[in-house]
Amino acid sequence: MRTPAEYLESIRDGREIWFRGERVDDVTAHPELGVGARNVAQTYEIEARPEWADLFWVEEEGHRISRFYKIPRTPDDLLCRHEAIEHLTREARPGLALISKEIGSDALFALLITAQDVDRKCGTRYFERVRRYYEYARDNELDLAVAQTDVKGDRSLRPADQPNPDTYVRIVERRPDGIVVRGAKVHTTDAVYAHEVIVLPTRAMTERDRDYAVAFAIPVNTPGVRLIASARGFTGQSPFDSPVAHRFRVVESVTIFDNVFVPSDRIFLAGEWEFAGDVAKTFVEFHRFTACAYKPPLLEALAGLGALLAEYNGIERVPHVRDKLARLIMYLATVRGMTRAAALDCRIRNGVAVPNPVLTNAAKFYFADNYHAAVKYVQDIAGGLVVTGPGTEDFNHPALRPLLDHYLSGKAGISGEERLRAMNLARDLVASDLGGYLEILAIHAEGSLETQKLTVLMDTDLGPLKAYARWLAGISAERPSGRPFLA
Ligand SMILES: Cc1cc2nc3c(=O)[nH]c(=O)nc-3n(C[C@H](O)[C@H](O)[C@H](O)COP(=O)(O)OP(=O)(O)OC[C@H]3O[C@@H](n4cnc5c(N)ncnc54)[C@H](O)[C@@H]3O)c2cc1C
Repeated sequence: MRTPAEYLESIRDGREIWFRGERVDDVTAHPELGVGARNVAQTYEIEARPEWADLFWVEEEGHRISRFYKIPRTPDDLLCRHEAIEHLTREARPGLALISKEIGSDALFALLITAQDVDRKCGTRYFERVRRYYEYARDNELDLAVAQTDVKGDRSLRPADQPNPDTYVRIVERRPDGIVVRGAKVHTTDAVYAHEVIVLPTRAMTERDRDYAVAFAIPVNTPGVRLIASARGFTGQSPFDSPVAHRFRVVESVTIFDNVFVPSDRIFLAGEWEFAGDVAKTFVEFHRFTACAYKPPLLEALAGLGALLAEYNGIERVPHVRDKLARLIMYLATVRGMTRAAALDCRIRNGVAVPNPVLTNAAKFYFADNYHAAVKYVQDIAGGLVVTGPGTEDFNHPALRPLLDHYLSGKAGISGEERLRAMNLARDLVASDLGGYLEILAIHAEGSLETQKLTVLMDTDLGPLKAYARWLAGISAERPSGRPFLA
């Protein structure tokens, strides 16, 4: 297994990263971007802890492989994957996507499934390529980013109808030994820290969109790959002011493919437009499951913080506060419970266990649709000090600290310092640039709200539900057999 230092060394490879208008020579040494690189490096240390060996490592065909690269074959495999993602996130980067192995393996599982169908229908040989690439990634413990979301231009138009033909990544040249691609993807999480990037189509395509139906994987330092790292997101000021944001960073990028050559053995879809939608959808079936596994630690933090602030302010027995705490706990339990149910009720497709799509999408939607309400509950319980409190410098001043400790104390036994630290965690999570980032992440990351509804409808047979209603209404005498709805 790689050490954290070896990981950091492995991404010093000349990749082209831009940040705040400047070319970044070494992402690991950069004052801001380096924070995220160290976060990813820390996952290697966490996964190496002997007490968690059973969670993060599995034996397969005589080899010890990362849990994240274990192809799920059973409900139990998915439950273990869920547990590992949740645990690693809680330890390494609470509330923030830890995608270094998880998102990449989501894409590889999807490609291992879809490539078999493409090969059967089109006579291609993608499955063998995907299998070999999967083994390469697994055996070399690659950190992979997934660039699926295209810039998309006019959302009402299909790729081939866009006035600007480069708003979806496309094939611009076919050669005997590979393809040349051009275009840009957006929001690519942590590509700046990944070894390689997997590119997938973002939507279903028609025959006219043939050149846009493309999937492949390439090293991040491939010539022509340009990453413009986002200067948005969040920056922590100090451990006191920003207990979470000062230690953690996630970086999205505009990921430009400027006439990039992709060799044949790294191409997993190239023109088979009928399968673009299936590749996109199968990836998100895994990826929304992963998303719902990394969310609970954030919801634990919100529920815990709500309870702590209620206690510090002496309002833990007040009915409206108990109502809000109960809602925070039910929110956490529902997201986690539905995701685990999606694992238990998985579907086996081409030998791979796919989390139940209706339950997975319901969990993701429920998470996203209720996130702002959860933020509101914590803001309400906390009070205004979340945004009006003193800063690190005041707190560290010898003349001011005793005053703050005395005057800002809470209920008996709770010092001003304890109360301020809890308030600062609240500001960090629900009233800061990190808080805003988390709200947008909740709504859009892993697909905006509407995409979950679309998937749920796509994967639900309304026929038996209507038959049940017809029988109840007396329209049909035929009593439907069995459960009308099987998620
Ligand atoms: C923090 C963060 C991390 C992310 N990480 C990744 C990543 O690692 N890799 C990756 O590939 N993507 C990533 N994403 C992208 C994410 O999946 C997209 O943000 C999401 O799919 C929405 O796409 P968009 O941002 O282009 O918004 P839009 O698609 O423009 O959506 C805005 C609104 O327009 C609506 N809309 C758009 N098109 C249509 C249409 N045709 N018909 C009707 N309504 C429409 C949407 O429903 C939504 O309400 C990330 C996003 C965020 C915020």
